[in-house]
Amino acid sequence: MSRVVVAGGAGFLGSHLCDRLVARGDEVVCIDDLSTGRADNVRQLDAHAAFTLVVADVSAEVPVDGGVDAVCHLASPASPPAYLERPLETLAVGSEGTRRLLELAERCGARFLLASTSEVYGDPTVHPQVETYRGNVDPVGPRSVYDEAKRFAEALTMAHHRVRDVDVAIVRIFNTYGPRLTPGDGRVVSNFVVQALAGEPITVYGDGSQTRSLCYVDDEVRGLLSILDSSLTGPVNLGNPDERTVLELAQLVLEVTGSTSEIAFAALPTDDPTRRCPDITLARRELGWEPSVPIAEGLSRTTDYFAALMPSHPLGRPSTGGRHTNG
Ligand code: UDP
Repeated sequence: MSRVVVAGGAGFLGSHLCDRLVARGDEVVCIDDLSTGRADNVRQLDAHAAFTLVVADVSAEVPVDGGVDAVCHLASPASPPAYLERPLETLAVGSEGTRRLLELAERCGARFLLASTSEVYGDPTVHPQVETYRGNVDPVGPRSVYDEAKRFAEALTMAHHRVRDVDVAIVRIFNTYGPRLTPGDGRVVSNFVVQALAGEPITVYGDGSQTRSLCYVDDEVRGLLSILDSSLTGPVNLGNPDERTVLELAQLVLEVTGSTSEIAFAALPTDDPTRRCPDITLARRELGWEPSVPIAEGLSRTTDYFAALMPSHPLGRPSTGGRHTNG
């Protein structure tokens, strides 16, 4: 059994990681300032003796006493609207937050896992993205608060590894989806599924020809655990190479939900990457990891989650006969 700190543990991805760690017998100290994370995401762990939620902003303090074996840094707003609303906080958690968590790992001799992002590749000119690609990021554009915070966090992590001998791992997480996404948080899957269930127009930005590659949360968390348990430093891409256009995703969501929502085109956000797909050769080779949940299956499970949250909507409660009919 290990004692693991999960910063950002009440977030979408962090809460699934906490679940898996507790389930396998680890003790988890979850730190979250609940700015975009939600206490509800870890409610199921509340009564568990091996789980503690500490409400704190790791950019200001890391209130953890005693020894720890691993520190996982997943603390950051992750949805574009969320980080664009919190530019300074996003830069702070990528810089000061990362430094504080690295110092905790150094003090305890713990392994440090940084949740970085495919956003470090910006609007990529190399496709699919390999870890050796250095990216195409506008350092002063609106998205830079997230992209550059994560790039800085990677640099800080490697500096602590080189100069202070901290045992580190960096994963670059590609778009991930599943239960516990905040409804309508601005990310493509939460927006589309909630819109479809509510019978509202599906908002496709631009002409929908931009691509993303979506990884189901259980696959992603399995990848996080496998690198945590390894001695690999990385950076390693963790994502599903099943690349789709955003318009295709909208159509898939309509099929899976059975919704009759229309597709409404809206303006493309500034610097929205035109394509994104991970090359996962390294993760396959070094970790034996690859995703296994097909997109239709993952969207179906995600739909069930959102449907249970919004029973008052006409499509919001799965019917016993076919799924989500208009009745
Ligand atoms: N997107 C969209 N409609 C929405 C939300 C997102 O068309 O309601 C597009 C967005 O412009 C981007 C892709 O879906 O091209 C993925 O967006 P998301 O915010 O999930 O993550 P990103 O990969 O941009 O960080």
